[in-house]
Amino acid sequence: MSVQVLAAKMAEVELKDVPGKELTPESPLTPKADDKGMVENEPKATSATTPTMEPMVKTGDTSPGFLTPNTKMPQASAMKRTDPQQNGGEAFVNRDGTVAEAPRLKKIQFADQKQEFNKRPTKIGRRSLSRSISQSSTDSYGSAASYTDSSDDETSPRDKQQKNSKGNGDFCIKNIKQADFGRREIEIAEQEMPALMALRKRAQGEKPLAGAKVVGCTHITAQTAVLMETLTALGAQCRWAACNIYSTQNEVAAALAEGGFSVFAWKGESEDDFWWCIDRCVNLEGWQPNMILDDGGDLTHWIYKKYPNMFKKIKGIVEESVTGVHRLYQLSKAGKLCVPAMNVNDSVTKQKFDNLYCCRESILDGLKRTTDVMFGGKQVVVCGYGEVGKGCCAALKAMGSIVYVTEIDPICALQACMDGFRLVKLNEVIRQVDIVITCTGNKNVVVREYLDRMKNGCIVCNMGHSNTEIDVASLRTPELTWERVRSQVDHVIWPDGKRIVLLAEGRLLNLSCSTVPTFVLSITATTQALALIELYNAPEGRYKQDVYLLPKKMDEYVASLHLPTFDAHLTELSDEQAKYLGLNKNGPFKPNYYRY
Ligand code: NAD
Repeated sequence: MSVQVLAAKMAEVELKDVPGKELTPESPLTPKADDKGMVENEPKATSATTPTMEPMVKTGDTSPGFLTPNTKMPQASAMKRTDPQQNGGEAFVNRDGTVAEAPRLKKIQFADQKQEFNKRPTKIGRRSLSRSISQSSTDSYGSAASYTDSSDDETSPRDKQQKNSKGNGDFCIKNIKQADFGRREIEIAEQEMPALMALRKRAQGEKPLAGAKVVGCTHITAQTAVLMETLTALGAQCRWAACNIYSTQNEVAAALAEGGFSVFAWKGESEDDFWWCIDRCVNLEGWQPNMILDDGGDLTHWIYKKYPNMFKKIKGIVEESVTGVHRLYQLSKAGKLCVPAMNVNDSVTKQKFDNLYCCRESILDGLKRTTDVMFGGKQVVVCGYGEVGKGCCAALKAMGSIVYVTEIDPICALQACMDGFRLVKLNEVIRQVDIVITCTGNKNVVVREYLDRMKNGCIVCNMGHSNTEIDVASLRTPELTWERVRSQVDHVIWPDGKRIVLLAEGRLLNLSCSTVPTFVLSITATTQALALIELYNAPEGRYKQDVYLLPKKMDEYVASLHLPTFDAHLTELSDEQAKYLGLNKNGPFKPNYYRY
């Protein structure tokens, strides 16, 4: 059964669950190889407006297919808008390794920070590889993620022989005995991941991933476990490593290992462990992956570097992160990308939900957990009014904060004004604000000059991808004293006694100091699963050795799978209305350039 037919079946059944939607013979996911539905809708709009307005979408190419080439982004430069590397040098440059001089550090040691904080000076020394691991690999993710950060058990998992209750030992995790606890975490996550659970139900009897051997490198959390178990229900075999040395929930890894998954990950890996785990996933006698699911590009890089022949059997790469997508475009530009890749990061549902809604929810959580600050009446400056900045501003405004915005782009600046925020230059407010938040994706937005001028007690944090938005390195000078007052909270003290409160050492605040809503992760994980299904089942020639965006129909399908959670009643176009708007009743409902 083709993936289109299967997806159609899934969508048909699913649409029954979408209130207000009647089951139609043609589902939103029924485009055939020669389906013109999407293409018919596109040229009218794109031919008139795209060339100048939407450089990210290639125009004029109206070849049919589920993921038509007109959804493709063949230009590396097209990614620059959200690309943190654009001003930051090479993609494989390790920004962790830039610390030149150790600060004067008065440390208060916390059990849960022991590994992380002590590790910093030794990281560079331990590096044994020709290139460093990506930013996402070292960004601390969800410090609250693991309740069982076993500082009491210092034995490296690599030195332990463990087996699950069925006698299988093809995994390497912290402690298999934590499996029951991890299973409960996975069950809790399942409740907030309705679309993946729906895919599992739809796939009963149908196995669109039968024969797929997926090697994955993502955060190993309860939400990822739900994704992995869904992929397995769809027929795939999975081997998994962590994309981040801190983010693994040990108990979840244990539950996965107990369930028969080959998982190689634990919280607090060294960099050597990190690559060892990735290698264990791919370097196995008698098993070769044919699909890659990556978050950050490290797994893809490792296979390119160590096992390039594997790409003969690999059907495609699904990449989740800005950094990983950037790397794929670099490979593509250099003519070195030898399989098709799906850019999940830039799908509409990911951008809107992950960037806007996730940050709207988690900015307050991150600030509260670390500082217990009261928001009412506080003066806050938010640098950057993109999706992340909009989310942060909305949340802070709702709490009664006085919010200022800085922007370089007049359009976003005007949006900020229209939303009721004062648009300022940072130097105009830097002396008076209580909180500074960066969300630009840029570098050196808050430099030492501004840090010097901040008032006593000012909280400084970053919500952007890279830890270079705040020039933290400039604070590592002998006259400043660093005092760790809580996990992820440093007081940086000036000689006159002024102190600023630096959160997560300038790394992503929400990923370092709070948790991320499972529902948001559900949307991204569903998109990943559908991208894998599509790439795995695509007929020869549909995808070339290039980077593709997901088609709008797929985005719409992901959204529709989440609607029943809200008892949302979706209006259906009448035939007359569909004709009037020139749309297919089953979507896509918007042209590619639509901005939502
Ligand atoms: P965006 O491109 O929509 O917004 C960034 C904005 O910053 C743009 O409007 C840009 O004009 C502005 N900007 C750039 N340089 C500036 C400067 N020097 N001063 C003021 N404004 C400046 O991107 P986005 O989707 O909002 O993402 C922003 C960053 O957050 C990215 O690095 C992204 O990877 C990251 N991100 C974080 C999370 C999270 O959970 N914390 C989620 C998604 C994305």
